[in-house]
Amino acid sequence: MNLSDKDKAYVWHPFTQMREWTEPLIIERAEGNELIDIDGRRYLDGVSSLWVSIHGHRKRELDDAVRAQLDKVAHSTLLGLSNVPSIELAERLIKIAPPGLGKVFYSDSGSTAVEVALKIAFQYQRQRGRADKRKFLALTDAYHGDTVGAVSVGGIDLFHEIFHPLLFHVLRVAPTLEALEHSLAAHGHELAALVIEPLVQGAAGMLLQPPGFLRAARELCRAHDVLLICDEVATGFGRTGTMFACEQEGISPDLLCLAKGISGGYLPLAATLVTDQIFGAFLGAQADKRTFFHGHTYTGNPLACAAGIASLDLFVRERVIERMQPKIARLAARLGEHIAPLAHVLEVRQRGFMIGIELVRNRATREPYDYDEAIGARVCQAVCRRGVILRPLGPVVVLLPPLSITDEEIDRLVGAARESIVEVCGATGPLPAGQGGSQ
Ligand SMILES: *Cc1c(COP(=O)(O)O)cnc(C)c1O
Repeated sequence: MNLSDKDKAYVWHPFTQMREWTEPLIIERAEGNELIDIDGRRYLDGVSSLWVSIHGHRKRELDDAVRAQLDKVAHSTLLGLSNVPSIELAERLIKIAPPGLGKVFYSDSGSTAVEVALKIAFQYQRQRGRADKRKFLALTDAYHGDTVGAVSVGGIDLFHEIFHPLLFHVLRVAPTLEALEHSLAAHGHELAALVIEPLVQGAAGMLLQPPGFLRAARELCRAHDVLLICDEVATGFGRTGTMFACEQEGISPDLLCLAKGISGGYLPLAATLVTDQIFGAFLGAQADKRTFFHGHTYTGNPLACAAGIASLDLFVRERVIERMQPKIARLAARLGEHIAPLAHVLEVRQRGFMIGIELVRNRATREPYDYDEAIGARVCQAVCRRGVILRPLGPVVVLLPPLSITDEEIDRLVGAARESIVEVCGATGPLPAGQGGSQ
């Protein structure tokens, strides 16, 4: 069997209808912002290997940091012990995080960062004598990960509906100021926390929140004595043009969930940051059982934390945030010129380096493509033939390049997206009904 046959024989791929899994593209190595397959073909990594690679691949400083740590120790536990990189990274995270967050609880994926936040919020309310505050409020179309707690606060029916009988009940609110005001006024007394993806709801299709929404969420939560959990798993580490999305509205959450870009895209790592006030509610005698009884085996893994420290060093040394600003503008200009005018593009949504291109059958009537047309997936296949890797969210083509993308690569990315949308959807005007998207 060759590798492709073995993949089909043994691997069950995530979020994938395996009956339609044909010839997998198998990556062997990478250089900079390009992935290279087993036949030596190169592909621009247009979604940062699922939203994680910040500085590109094979970044010398990150490679060196992981190798250096490998010469010391690959893993030792944080249960009952500590290790050098986890301490140093925690200090660094607290120093750059929105003010007020004082403690770092590690885990290993975005989902676990959210699980930890939910459990801490719930237990916190009990331990400060507010056992009545036990519900969660979350946004419509929210995505917070795939474990059962994270799915409970999630609101994407396609992924989540089947699991409803397994989930705990969550109150839901649309991301508008009025709806949020109304919800908190009605339910604030019974809420442990509001959980939101700040500024951009990523997996929902890069939905942008109205300006001022995040700030209002902060103020309303404070007014109603409800904790604010910001899930910056996707938006953190420069994605929206600032280190954290929260900075753009000058707010600090009570709990902050980080993962994806935290290790520079090298190793699985996550962190849940909390205020000292929350942490304080967990202190007491052993017999009080105020301990947070939670911890994953690879929590605070030294290799991953070493990569995380090296990544933060790169942000400083290479002035990543500053240098991405003109690239954000270039992306906006290219998208405006080459993508937005296309006949089947309903909307181009951009916040920094998070971009969603929503495709529709008919722009005038906003008639969507049918689910089984898999329009986004077909555009991404066409993009792949042009040497660019993208992954859609339903009818939304997502561009989420590494922050290290060059000007030439931006043009290549947008050019490939444009050609592919034209190829798959057709260039001129709405297609006749029933033929939308047929090749
Ligand atoms: C990806 C994502 C998660 C889940 O992260 P995993 O590492 O895949 O578990 C949670 N929240 C948001 C906002 C995400 O984008």
